[in-house]
Amino acid sequence: MKLRVVYDEIHKLHADPRGRHPADPWRLERALSAMKSSPVWSSTVLLRAPPASREALLLAHDEEYVSFVEEESKGGFHYVDWDTYVTEHSFAAGAAFAAAALRAALSSLESREPWFIMPRPGGHHAGRKGWAMGASTLGFCLFNYAGIAAKAFLREGLKVLALDFDAHHGNGTQDILWEEPRAVHVDFHEEGIYPGSGDVSEKGGSGAEGTKVNVPLLPYSGDGEYYWAVENVLKPLLEVFKPEALVISAGFDAFAGDPLTHLMASERTFELLGHTLRPYVGSKPMVIVMEGGYGEGLTRGLTAFLESLMGLREASEVKHKEPHSARRIRELLARHWGVG
Ligand SMILES: [Zn+2]
Repeated sequence: MKLRVVYDEIHKLHADPRGRHPADPWRLERALSAMKSSPVWSSTVLLRAPPASREALLLAHDEEYVSFVEEESKGGFHYVDWDTYVTEHSFAAGAAFAAAALRAALSSLESREPWFIMPRPGGHHAGRKGWAMGASTLGFCLFNYAGIAAKAFLREGLKVLALDFDAHHGNGTQDILWEEPRAVHVDFHEEGIYPGSGDVSEKGGSGAEGTKVNVPLLPYSGDGEYYWAVENVLKPLLEVFKPEALVISAGFDAFAGDPLTHLMASERTFELLGHTLRPYVGSKPMVIVMEGGYGEGLTRGLTAFLESLMGLREASEVKHKEPHSARRIRELLARHWGVG
């Protein structure tokens, strides 16, 4: 079983020419070179992004928003809000990775091979109409590739579990899947940082209550809290919901020392996440989308996750530690899922 990796140099055309933005091209280059020196490299097939697809974009976004990004790109490099820039190539790059997300979903459905998409611009903060769940910016993101993959699976009649372990709340993905009872969205993130959403009380729209499960973690949380969240939230939901497809928003900015967050996860957290998803490799369609990560997580966190996912690395022992949100999460899971 191979991991199909989508990497495309088109991402380099989405860059702040002044080189002062944390979401610059060096991130992906660092991640890719870490993969090349990891044992996981021999289990990968490297692919370019397919041609841009409007069909893919419209799975997750309104026509009006898609046209907005297209028009803004035509204006060349500038900021569309205080932290998100576009260049004349951003629309083309985003639309190519959107096409990759759709192709990944359909291909993985056929072959059961997992896909790992390495897109830039980023994805999980972009909602159906762009700015999502009250966020004041797009958080470096233009199109939501995880949302597109999830919508593609839903269109094929499958129920989807979307896991987002980026350190920032996946407000865009939550927005896109908000009213969809066939999509469970589980999100582990730091509380109190951008985008500000992701409270336990955000549990899904009318008819989908309980399908959006947020696990906010206090600053300086680490492996112990992630272990608790995997054992008490992710694993029981996988068992009870029985997803037919998985979409993973894999961000590596919870890794200790990341310049944008205050979480303290080590390789152990990413090993644990990889091991937890391992049984689904080859048995369920799976699309993994790389999200954030601005420090060592891009190398050590990413390789720990992928090696564990592909069965090339043992899990380390971790002691669980209850996060401050544990009681409210337990109540939610008991009420909507009969868990606990
Ligand atoms: Zn992030």
